Amino acid sequence: MSLTFMGMPKFSRTADQAENDTVLKGNIAHATRMMRSKRARAFAEVPDAAQLRDASAAIKDHTIRHLGSYLRQLEKSVIDRGGHVHWAENGEQAAALITELVRAKGAREVIKSKTMISEEIGLNEALTEAGITPVETDLGAFINQLREDHPSHIIAPSIHLNRSQVRDTFVSEMAKHGRPAPEDLTDHPEELTEAARIHLREKFLRATVAITGGNFAVAETGTLLTFEGEGNIRMCNTLPDTLISVIGIEKLVPTWQDLEVYLQMLPLSAVGERQATYTSMWSGVHDGDGPTEFHLVLLDNGRTNALADPVGRQALRCIRCSACLNVCPVFEHAGGGQVYGAVYSGPIGAILTPQLGGMSNEVERSLPYASSLCGACSEVCPVKIDFPEVLLHLRAKAARGPGHTMERLAMSASREMFAHHRVLGAGQRAAGVFGNKAAALPLPGPAKNWKGSRNLPELPGTSFRRWMAEHEKELRKQAAAKQAEAKQAEAKEDTQ
Ligand code: SF4
Repeated sequence: MSLTFMGMPKFSRTADQAENDTVLKGNIAHATRMMRSKRARAFAEVPDAAQLRDASAAIKDHTIRHLGSYLRQLEKSVIDRGGHVHWAENGEQAAALITELVRAKGAREVIKSKTMISEEIGLNEALTEAGITPVETDLGAFINQLREDHPSHIIAPSIHLNRSQVRDTFVSEMAKHGRPAPEDLTDHPEELTEAARIHLREKFLRATVAITGGNFAVAETGTLLTFEGEGNIRMCNTLPDTLISVIGIEKLVPTWQDLEVYLQMLPLSAVGERQATYTSMWSGVHDGDGPTEFHLVLLDNGRTNALADPVGRQALRCIRCSACLNVCPVFEHAGGGQVYGAVYSGPIGAILTPQLGGMSNEVERSLPYASSLCGACSEVCPVKIDFPEVLLHLRAKAARGPGHTMERLAMSASREMFAHHRVLGAGQRAAGVFGNKAAALPLPGPAKNWKGSRNLPELPGTSFRRWMAEHEKELRKQAAAKQAEAKQAEAKEDTQ
């Protein structure tokens, strides 16, 4: 299935490959249906949901507009509370920096909480290359790590798998990384989580360094926050001596008063609950309480480029709730996050990934086309991102870039034809004579997919202009005949 005009590259190819995987698509459809109905029920119970959305969007817009000064305030607040702040311009720098911090502590193994930003910077690969074993402690991320798989969803990274696939993974893979799965393990959720808990507990207890992300950072106090349902992040940010947190520079909120809005909005929009099961907050270091060393890594990686784009910058409001993924027909039909060929998937991936990467490759240029522009994502987005507006803006940019040769040729041929009415007339006459025969023939190259998914209407034998000219001629003839008839009748009356 090709989702867009001819010339569309990467996303359409991966979506094509996933189309026949009925198990994958069944898993995705089941999970997203559950999440969106839970969210809809929860929102219906909140009387000021509309005002919360307005506030969520407004606070993010304000923060992004004054990002520089809030980032400086955050840096000072973290340092004042005994933490260290590091700046990374790109993913490579961030991964190298974190790897160096871990190496300096002499750790050969680190525990990690699920963080999309760690995927964005390729942190696991960098750590592994340096001889350090990263251990994912979020259940979904842990399952993916055992399978050497990528996250398929922002908050539910193994949404593409069902229980029996998870059981099979545990049985075949767990022993390679530590404590094996019980021999009589079934696919009952309680047994599966228990097996993962026992396997990971040993690693939590011996870890000296942990790496986390963060949902928000409060500039006025240098506090980081995470929301979660499993408790593994809380273990990461309390048990080891050294804690390293990495966040994108857009994760800021200025004050605790601003944070109050997101304390309500994020759990509501992400999991349909009034409050997250665990909300952890940490500011610097404290004697006798948690890690003795805290490092905050602030990552740009294309975010300031997105900030410079007046239309595209609204993507930086995103709080990664995943509501847009759960309502997206393309995400569900295409087979989840893996087909996007990038860390961020679904509607937010379609507008964020190309901006972070600067549309530098075929995948990034294809993503703005991974949408039907139905607007369901905009309706649920808690920070009111206007997805169709950004998608069209990015499509225009993609069309000006490399690729899309066929589309550009077709458009310049159309421009010439419409600019010269004689050429247009000749084209219409030719279409009337040969058009239907030509339309039945197969088209070559990428145009084959474009045509294969469409039913072309039958072309009329004559153009509208020609038909109109003949019709007017006929009308004039009829009028002249009537006039002649009337004159004859008048002449007859005169002679009587
Ligand atoms: S774009 Fe909006 S709906 Fe999608 S993940 Fe971000 S905040 Fe949630």
